[in-house]
Amino acid sequence: MNKAAASLRIFNSLSGSKEPFVPIEEKHVGMYVCGPTVYSNVHLGNCRTFISFDLVYRYLKYLGYTVRYVRNITDAGHLENDADEGEDRISKKARLERIEPMEVVQRYTVDFHKTLAAFNTLPPNIEPTATGHIIEQIEIIKGILKAGFAYEVNGSVYFDVKTYNETHHYGILSGRNIEDMIHNTRDLSGQSDKRSPQDFALWKKAEPQHIMRWPSPWGDGFPGWHLECTAMSTKYLGEQFDIHGGGMDLKFPHHECEIAQAKAINKKNPVNTWMHANMLTLNGKKMAKSTGNNILPQELFEGSNSILSKAFNADVARFFMLQAHYRSVLDLSNDALEAAEKGYNRLKQGIALLPELPASTSSSFDVNEYIAAYHNAMNDDFNSPILIAQLFETVKMIQRTQKGDETLTQGDIQKLRQTINLFVFDVLGLTLASSTGENTYLDKALSVLIHMREQARANKDFATSDQIRDALLAKGIQLKDGKDGTSYTLES
Ligand code: AMP
Ligand code: ZN
Repeated sequence: MNKAAASLRIFNSLSGSKEPFVPIEEKHVGMYVCGPTVYSNVHLGNCRTFISFDLVYRYLKYLGYTVRYVRNITDAGHLENDADEGEDRISKKARLERIEPMEVVQRYTVDFHKTLAAFNTLPPNIEPTATGHIIEQIEIIKGILKAGFAYEVNGSVYFDVKTYNETHHYGILSGRNIEDMIHNTRDLSGQSDKRSPQDFALWKKAEPQHIMRWPSPWGDGFPGWHLECTAMSTKYLGEQFDIHGGGMDLKFPHHECEIAQAKAINKKNPVNTWMHANMLTLNGKKMAKSTGNNILPQELFEGSNSILSKAFNADVARFFMLQAHYRSVLDLSNDALEAAEKGYNRLKQGIALLPELPASTSSSFDVNEYIAAYHNAMNDDFNSPILIAQLFETVKMIQRTQKGDETLTQGDIQKLRQTINLFVFDVLGLTLASSTGENTYLDKALSVLIHMREQARANKDFATSDQIRDALLAKGIQLKDGKDGTSYTLES
């Protein structure tokens, strides 16, 4: 374990404060993040949330934890409306396009994976689907019914929020109280089987036209949206686990309902640390699929959206997002992206100077102070904007060292280089590839190899560094070491 791990503090939405992070099992972290509902292409807002948790995952790994990262795919049960009304989003898309629901799921799951790979996010360890866990969901419903916190009506089963709230606190996460909820919810009399409007569906009876249906003790139907995350997080991470994440908009009702479901059957608080990532906005309003106020990653990469004056690559977009703290709202605009691109290039140029810095017999500044500042930033609730600001401070010193205004020993140069590489590539997940936007996957693969070669050279392992260069050359890819770092050319 990295000794910085002892100082990590995370803002827990449950307590509303930053808390020292202590995992349930030493050196191991269980983390569950709500994944996408795969009925359309993910927009940049969705990507921001997954990039935020990618940063969390990467830093936990950097600290030396073995992380089991579970992120689900919602492929059934998410209705158009959060109050358990409307059509299933996937069924609706399938009906409109006259294709199978699983074709919808397949198409948008593939898009999701492709997009997140373009943003250089690491895949989770387990990516379970709601439809793959119907049996587990039915078992949980049976348990909640048995515990007396749910009721069956006409083939549907609802969670009884009022009864639950008599012995537990429904609203513990979102800070709501049940009286206000009752006051603020529409009276559903005559339109719903629910006893009270704040009750939520655990199982819904499938009407004859509903395509996605499964047999259950209550007849053919489908699970309520909140249930899948309780079923899959419990199955893969246990009744109590360390971190549960999702976008801020999922805090209520989704996560509140997850807590109620889990407590109803297991009598335990399911999650120690709840983390909520804030929204990406466009024109000051939340990016959302439903309102059309969004930009798709592809539009960004091609520059094919009217708000954009040009194309931006995924690495720049990732940098733009990480320049804001994950709990702050971030507004996307052409100006903000251009400013981020300038900063990104400045960082890239600064880092490219590292391999050729002149070594001195003594250092005029303490690299350990800079390195400590990186850890302090990330240990303070994953504060990536402060980390990036500290990297810019370091870039200034690198430039001064290159000019001869500051000095560094060979040992300090190596130490700085290794640490910067770790924070920039492994923690922030930037590639800093000289991407033309035409061949991003090749760029990424080569940036990994270039990075490995640099590390080999830093370790004086010239046999490995030469092997990488020669093997690439044999395949027609020539590496060129220049002032701005290593680039490549392809044999024509
Ligand atoms: P969905 O597919 O709608 O369930 O959303 C997938 C994830 O994206 C959830 O964690 C949402 O909270 C998150 N999300 C949706 N819209 C935005 C947005 N504008 N900014 C950041 N995250 C978002
Ligand atoms: Zn969820």
